[in-house]
Amino acid sequence: MSGEREDYCEQHKRTTQAYDQYRESAAKRGYNSKWRQSRAGYLPKHPLCAACLMQGRRTSDTVVDHIVPHKGGMNLFWDSSKWLPLYASCHGR
Ligand SMILES: [Zn+2]
Repeated sequence: MSGEREDYCEQHKRTTQAYDQYRESAAKRGYNSKWRQSRAGYLPKHPLCAACLMQGRRTSDTVVDHIVPHKGGMNLFWDSSKWLPLYASCHGR
């Protein structure tokens, strides 16, 4: 049925648009290639999860967390003294 095909394409288009908007807003909040580079420079120097370290565990494979919510403020966002290395599952908590 051609009608169903059109429905599908419309649906597909909406999904793609939503994804583009999501990516765009993430980039506007500063999560762009500059952020990825800074993070890539930071993590090798701070490889262990801070939350695990406090419990005497040494967990690597961490992501960068903002201790102070930056709320889009670029000074806070780029202040690496306010960054915290966290293991991904600890970060989710
Ligand atoms: Zn941890």
